[in-house]
Amino acid sequence: MTQIEDLTIKEARKLLDSKEISAKELTEGALLQIEDKNKELNIYLEVYDDILEQAKLAQKIIDQGDSKDLTGIPLAIKDNILIKGKKASAASKILENYKATYTATAAKKILEQNGIFIGRTNMDEFAMGGSTENSAFGVTRNPHDPEKVAGGSSGGSAAAVAANMALGALGSDTGGSIREPASFCGCVGLKPTYGSVSRYGLMAMGSSLDVIGPITKSVADAEIIFNVIKGQDKYDSTSHIPVRHDGKSVGSLQDSSRDLRIGVPYHLLEQDGISREVKENFEESVEKLKNLGFEIKDIKLPNIDKSLTIYYIIMPAEVSSNMARYDGIKYGLSLDGNPSTPLRTSNLMEVYKKTRGEGLGPEVRRRIILGTYVLSAGYYDAYYGKAMAAREVIKNEFNKAFNEVNVVLTPTAPTPAWKIGEKTSPLENYLADIFTVTANIAGIPAISIPSGFAKINDKDLPIGIQLMSAHGNENVLFEIGKNFLGETT
Ligand code: GLN
Repeated sequence: MTQIEDLTIKEARKLLDSKEISAKELTEGALLQIEDKNKELNIYLEVYDDILEQAKLAQKIIDQGDSKDLTGIPLAIKDNILIKGKKASAASKILENYKATYTATAAKKILEQNGIFIGRTNMDEFAMGGSTENSAFGVTRNPHDPEKVAGGSSGGSAAAVAANMALGALGSDTGGSIREPASFCGCVGLKPTYGSVSRYGLMAMGSSLDVIGPITKSVADAEIIFNVIKGQDKYDSTSHIPVRHDGKSVGSLQDSSRDLRIGVPYHLLEQDGISREVKENFEESVEKLKNLGFEIKDIKLPNIDKSLTIYYIIMPAEVSSNMARYDGIKYGLSLDGNPSTPLRTSNLMEVYKKTRGEGLGPEVRRRIILGTYVLSAGYYDAYYGKAMAAREVIKNEFNKAFNEVNVVLTPTAPTPAWKIGEKTSPLENYLADIFTVTANIAGIPAISIPSGFAKINDKDLPIGIQLMSAHGNENVLFEIGKNFLGETT
């Protein structure tokens, strides 16, 4: 038998239900890995103290024969998704001791099945970044090479899965934060259709872009978690049951999977900054898909190369308004502008300034300033207004593409994981998002699938490919993804 910690969710489900393993053994398997490696890799910010109780409860349900897909499955949760009574800091000093007062809908759905959350994982502060180097609590190291980043912002969640410290994890994706760390850590990462999973209880970053999704070892596992967490929610007015732009049926595969057509925007690969390893791996992946019988079509998405510019205007605009709630009064940290006085004697403005100045890290402050600027009266039309108009152009280009092909294929990231500390300017970091931000701009689902390794300094670093499909058509991603990885369907 494979080691207990190597199991996928699907495999573990079978073994739990046939009583070959217990929820306790499964959980202890993950805990052993945590004890062994978490100090070095800095993946979990906190391991909850009630996991064995949770496992006991789950076992009872399994023993009664009432198990559901995630009953007794140990999972990790990103530190920006709330569980009532537990800390959630978004890896920020400003929320270091904040305890959630309610549970996120996605987490609640998992808890209702008696899935076991074993702890909260490290991330870039408030999900702003692509490497977890922006965490206030130290960087997460890549399990494949501890000198390298794990990606981000859901770096801890991806690393937890890669290091067998959980069977699966929840992450959030605003511009690639599930897919990029999944590709850096050799996992599967799904960014669902915008609105298909409730955002209730997810700390908002860019509200028109944010979505919660799974990071897992297999495509089948991503599908399992997605099916549990999806659905319309009265607490999130943007949540809905997705419909396709052209009214075609959502998610159903009328044709046999071999008839699925994959569009490749080759012109995107001519941009600067894409590493040789990624290009080679991408070509090999296209060949593999061809050999599996899929039709490959060269497509043009003429304005997609503007996605990064559009994203880095819309996202900070939304960030700046979402972050206004962390004012030193409503939540978490509150610093007096005049700390030498025992009682608060300074004025409110000083409390705001001191709390936000010290409680928020440099990248978060940068985005607040940028967002405030693009939304300011004199510049609103030139920046925000234009970006919103361009967003429509991108959406339409995808809609057009999906009349011809079922999915669009790109690499997930332009390079494999980089060395910790190597990227020194914000812009260098932003460029890592070139392939991922488009799906958030268009609101469409996208998945990152492990596609091989690059040998760099004698270490094998994972690489991923990204598949994007029309609104609500996650099924197509699962179908092609399973085929690609040779998972039995
Ligand atoms: N890396 C991107 C950014 O820094 C994406 C972040 C995310 O998806 N939360 O904004």
